[in-house]
Amino acid sequence: MRIPLYTNTTRNKEAKKTMALVTSKNMFARAHAGHYAVGAFNVNNMEVIQGVCEALSEANAPGILQISKGARDFAGMPFLRGLMQTALEVYPNLELCVHLDHGPDFELAKACLDDPIFTSVMIDGSGLPFEENIALTKKVVDYAHSMSTPKVVEAELGRLGGIEEHVVVSEKDAFLTDPDEAVIFVEKSGCDSLALAIGTSHGAYKFKTEPVLAFDIIEEVSSRLPGYPLVMHGSSSVPEEFVNLCNKYGGQIPNAKGVPEAMITRAAKMGIDKVNIDTDIRLAITATLRQFFAEKPSEFDYRKYFAPARTAVKQMVLHKLNVLGCAGKAVQ
Ligand SMILES: [Zn+2]
Repeated sequence: MRIPLYTNTTRNKEAKKTMALVTSKNMFARAHAGHYAVGAFNVNNMEVIQGVCEALSEANAPGILQISKGARDFAGMPFLRGLMQTALEVYPNLELCVHLDHGPDFELAKACLDDPIFTSVMIDGSGLPFEENIALTKKVVDYAHSMSTPKVVEAELGRLGGIEEHVVVSEKDAFLTDPDEAVIFVEKSGCDSLALAIGTSHGAYKFKTEPVLAFDIIEEVSSRLPGYPLVMHGSSSVPEEFVNLCNKYGGQIPNAKGVPEAMITRAAKMGIDKVNIDTDIRLAITATLRQFFAEKPSEFDYRKYFAPARTAVKQMVLHKLNVLGCAGKAVQ
């Protein structure tokens, strides 16, 4: 894997001048018009940030790096901020948005909006009653849009099932987005993009039987809010090759099932402009490490196995960018 290293200070200064940290506004407008989606990848450490950026760079694709509560608990914001800044310096030509994933309250959303490294936040009021979700989202939107350099806000309506780090939503508490409510929600809250609940769920066990997505909801919301950016969470495809490798080398993740790639491509064509990917990154790494440890039990130099894990992330993301249709779509 090629990781460019800038040791020359002049070059570093040059890189800083051209770095392209942007909001997702323009990315989404192009994605919507071009019927493709932008990938939003959850990152927690250096190797994943490198793998994702390397893939975006090679494919010349726009991309979103997103930080969840779990990432902040794991690495801490100072390290994540430093890694993001470094990524922008090392890849000055990338069209990159840094996004807060699932912001739980106004205080954290505000703190991230005040942080120069973030250009976008999600406020997740999907667990609140409809009117309270609108009020909370509007408060964050008003703050983000009034900044000297305005930032953007994603909200969620409807409730995805599954496990997202600390939040577990049981099947009976999950419900799909109501298109009538979606239209009112967007008008009243002013949010810049909206995550729909259309049958996907967080984690590696998305479907017990055959995968079914409510494409009619995407279609209806899209036709009633023309050009409006829609978001799909819980959209990892849980590739069989990774699940099989994990299980072959001692893993225990039976019956894992994700969203088939053809469905992701279809959703992107219908008006989904942002697709969140987290589980597939975890599976790519875990499969690589399990295989490595099984085949080379005497190896203990961690660089020897983090390097192929990072390459596996890059390859998975490269493939995903083609599924989303955003390869070659970056502007510089
Ligand atoms: Zn999510």
